[in-house]
Amino acid sequence: MTARRGARCAPLRIGLTGGIASGKSTVAEMFRSLGAPIIDTDVIAREVVAPGRPALDDIRERFGSRVLTAEGELDRAAMRLLVFSDEHMRKKLEEIVHPRIRDETFRQASAAGGPYQILVVPLLAESPLRHFVDRVLVVDCDQNTQVERLLARDTDTREQAERILAAQARREDRLAIADDVIINEGALDTTRKQVARLHDIYVELAKSGELQRE
Ligand code: ADP
Repeated sequence: MTARRGARCAPLRIGLTGGIASGKSTVAEMFRSLGAPIIDTDVIAREVVAPGRPALDDIRERFGSRVLTAEGELDRAAMRLLVFSDEHMRKKLEEIVHPRIRDETFRQASAAGGPYQILVVPLLAESPLRHFVDRVLVVDCDQNTQVERLLARDTDTREQAERILAAQARREDRLAIADDVIINEGALDTTRKQVARLHDIYVELAKSGELQRE
């Protein structure tokens, strides 16, 4: 945990993370329905490269129009292919995109208010945003459940799903940074109850000001 005791006015920031298909969006929506502002870095990552935004101009300048679609949007498949096996290219792309994602996350967080707010950051363990949040909430489920959900939602084969999981941080590494854990393996109602309990805790913590920044 990175927070210090201090002023009572800044909202408590909760970093919500978890592996792919663990249920981050599902849990974030449950918090939203209880009134918490949600700042989703996946959504921000898509917005910063939208046509007309400076990041897309920089990407075109650096990588050429081969990574744009005919409509002038970022061709994600082409971009992925280009950076997949080339560390140097990947770094170049990250230099363009990451600072903008961070700045927009900071902007939205300071505008959002709330006694507490939820920042959804899929790769929080590896992200500098880890030092921006006061508390880490990990959405967890076993790997088989992740594979089943990926098969239902995104991927065609079990091998593909398992490859995606293997490329992510290990479950133990994610859990190691958790202050709170939601187990999202069973019925949605069971998850909703855990969200409601944490909501009460976060409201109380925010009131006490104990975990907030100076
Ligand atoms: P993430 O945002 O972590 O990738 P999602 O919240 O999108 O995960 O969940 C992945 C998929 O699993 C979605 O299709 C979602 O509806 C489904 N899902 C999530 N939690 C549950 C649950 N407890 N029971 C059944 N399906 C779930």
